[in-house]
Amino acid sequence: MAAERSARRLERMEDLVSLCARRGFVFQSSEIYGGINGFWDYGPLGTELKNNLKSLWWQRVVRERPDVEGIDTAIIAHPRTWEASGHVEHFSDPLVDCRACKKRFRADQVGDAGPCSARQGSSEHDFTEPRNFNLMLRTHIGASEDAAAVAYLRAETCQSIFNDFKRVRETSRQKIPFGIAQLGKAFRNEINPRNFTFRSREFEQAELEFFCHATEREKWFSHWTDERMRFHRELGLAGDRLRTRAHATDELAHYARAAVDVEYLFPFGWQEIEGIHDRGSYDLSRHGEYSGKDLGVTDPETKEHYVPVVIETSVGIDRTCLAVMVDAYAEETLEDGETRIVMRFHPALAPIQVAVLPLSKKLSEPAHRLESELRRRFNVFYDDAGNIGRRYRRQDEAGTPFCVTIDFESAQDEKVTVRERDSMEQERIPIGAVGAVLAERTGALR
Ligand code: ATP
Repeated sequence: MAAERSARRLERMEDLVSLCARRGFVFQSSEIYGGINGFWDYGPLGTELKNNLKSLWWQRVVRERPDVEGIDTAIIAHPRTWEASGHVEHFSDPLVDCRACKKRFRADQVGDAGPCSARQGSSEHDFTEPRNFNLMLRTHIGASEDAAAVAYLRAETCQSIFNDFKRVRETSRQKIPFGIAQLGKAFRNEINPRNFTFRSREFEQAELEFFCHATEREKWFSHWTDERMRFHRELGLAGDRLRTRAHATDELAHYARAAVDVEYLFPFGWQEIEGIHDRGSYDLSRHGEYSGKDLGVTDPETKEHYVPVVIETSVGIDRTCLAVMVDAYAEETLEDGETRIVMRFHPALAPIQVAVLPLSKKLSEPAHRLESELRRRFNVFYDDAGNIGRRYRRQDEAGTPFCVTIDFESAQDEKVTVRERDSMEQERIPIGAVGAVLAERTGALR
């Protein structure tokens, strides 16, 4: 029974990093060339997990909301976008160099720099004065490499939502209050990518910009804070490792009225996974000014013409995936003294929902029949090699909530054994009922 087993949570990130590489969840990008710092590849299991997370976000934030439209914009926007948004001027971190070992650090993180390996007679770094380093990744468009051709990979997905605000509002015929959402890649030339995927140079964001009248900003800010916390709890993130942290007034951007971070307790401490911000009318006003277009709206009743206030929710998909993996990880000591690593994902997030495991290769015909029936509804893994205990352990590490074994009795009684990942309890059920039973048990999030 689950209650009798002792379970250890993840304490060292190394254990998760190694499981992720070993099982192909996430690993260094361009590994065969030695990797590239701040870039990660998701393997088959990680991609399924991430896709499940993204579709759940899309489902909750876009599809279930009559007042939200979803879009998908180009990664490269007109360069004026980033002037209007303030990124060209202000999107920078303070950088220091060590004159001895030549390593670079964020000035606010030198406390974690560790000893200098190059100085004689001292292990202290010899830092330069801090200078600002712009975090946007640059590229050039077209055949010319001069300054006029400079463009930026987007540093956040939301700026093109502001660029498209007028067209989306007009074509969707939405009225204020309403939101526009987008999910996609963002790029930041982080000075020190670290903590596995937590701080990467290429990552995915899921952002919602909800436009409202200034008189309703508090109402919508609290509505979206509640909604987003509900989402994180729904993922199964443990209550005592999830919190909100309101920004103090001196932390707020000059145009922002309120901001709350959703934080998760990682092995490396409490860290932000989502930001919820009242950004005022700053973004639409700036893009209106820089583009020369009127991005205001007219109230159909009062005829007031105004620039809406925006409430933003901005969540990192990779950071949330990481939180889900940290939260799911458990090392259990079983009754027989063996240990197992089990990823206790919510069944609807799990990369594989069902593994079909015939006890013998001779049972492949009914097993493949069941497999192809289940594949229509679930992500299924088929494995007929090796001892069954070892096959279960592999599925525990992948976080597969259900294993279905077919044995020689199955042909007689038309039943199979369903083994549940967390309790390890086994139950015999009619083969024809497997699909419906698993759909009920895995579908709680949908
Ligand atoms: P931080 O202070 O940690 O750099 P931020 O406050 O700059 O983050 P935002 O600009 O508010 O982050 O971005 C919204 C979300 O995007 C963050 O909550 C985070 O989940 C994600 N995110 C931002 N930067 C990165 C990164 N370098 N790697 C992975 N995810 C990121």
